[in-house]
Amino acid sequence: MGRGSSIEERVARAAEAALQEHGYVAPVDVLVRMGWLQPVHRDHWRQGRVRDLEQVVEAGPGKVSTAMRALQRWAREEGLQPTETDHLAGTRDRRGLQFSAGGAAAVEREYRTHWIAPTASGAERARLRERGNRAPDLVVVSPLRDWTCAACGGTGHLLLMEDDAPLCLVCADLDHLTFLPAGDAALTRRARRASRLSAVVVRFSRSRQRYERQGVLVEERALVEAEASCLADEEARGRRRDRDAERRRAADSRLAEQMAAEVRRLFPGCPAERAAAIAEHTAARGSGRIGRTAAGRRLDEHAVELAVVASVRHRDTDYDALLMAGLPRDEARARVRAAVDAVLDHWRTVPR
Ligand SMILES: [Zn+2]
Repeated sequence: MGRGSSIEERVARAAEAALQEHGYVAPVDVLVRMGWLQPVHRDHWRQGRVRDLEQVVEAGPGKVSTAMRALQRWAREEGLQPTETDHLAGTRDRRGLQFSAGGAAAVEREYRTHWIAPTASGAERARLRERGNRAPDLVVVSPLRDWTCAACGGTGHLLLMEDDAPLCLVCADLDHLTFLPAGDAALTRRARRASRLSAVVVRFSRSRQRYERQGVLVEERALVEAEASCLADEEARGRRRDRDAERRRAADSRLAEQMAAEVRRLFPGCPAERAAAIAEHTAARGSGRIGRTAAGRRLDEHAVELAVVASVRHRDTDYDALLMAGLPRDEARARVRAAVDAVLDHWRTVPR
């Protein structure tokens, strides 16, 4: 084989290798494996910096269409399943990527079609399709050389390529975002999820001849939130230990048992384990909750009802989400009142 092998043979080898590695074959990947497309050029195309893929493919149009036909023939002979996949640019408009110079619909469809192994399960196929269709990350480049913003003539540490012209973050409307360096996977994931707008920062590595991730740009608010939740994880573990100990102490107290019985008497439809949880929660030692007040200790009906209402409000309604959204407490309570009453009525009237 080697040098003298035909395009058909080279396509088959590249496709075979892609199938082994990914479980599917993408035409663009085949071109890369055949040595006709440099990975860095593929990246530029994905970043929306090249009008169409064929501009950077290092083979004439005749050879490329021969290869595309060979790939389809090979894939059908192997019994692979065709699935059309969206290809979106890592630009703000997430426009569809163009493959061919001419842009003819039939040719574009050939490029867009991925071939999936016949042995793939329905779930695997759905996952591959979903992954293929996912919008790529918005990409911001940390440039190696001096550069000038195409819109304002300024410069900066980072740039966004738009229609193959560099924009500074101010002109790209990304200057309100904060840079979070790579390294903390959990923090990065949370910050991106919490951020309405985010971008991946890459820098070209001359030695490896490819773009490498430096970090992400996220909203400051999202970063603060993510840091708090990562921190809370550690604290939460400690708090859970405390709560467990507290619960054990409360659970064997007579007060909690009596209170659970009273909850069940007033709300026969309340599940037993829920009644126990409410009683343990409210009777917990050292807390200022109503279970510890004089009325609670006397098992005043009203105090028990208040404990049940509080539990239902937090666990069975949107109350916490409304508070999270910044709604004043009174207003949030008014909004969930009907939902709370519905649960209480149900528990009062429907015995288990
Ligand atoms: Zn600018």
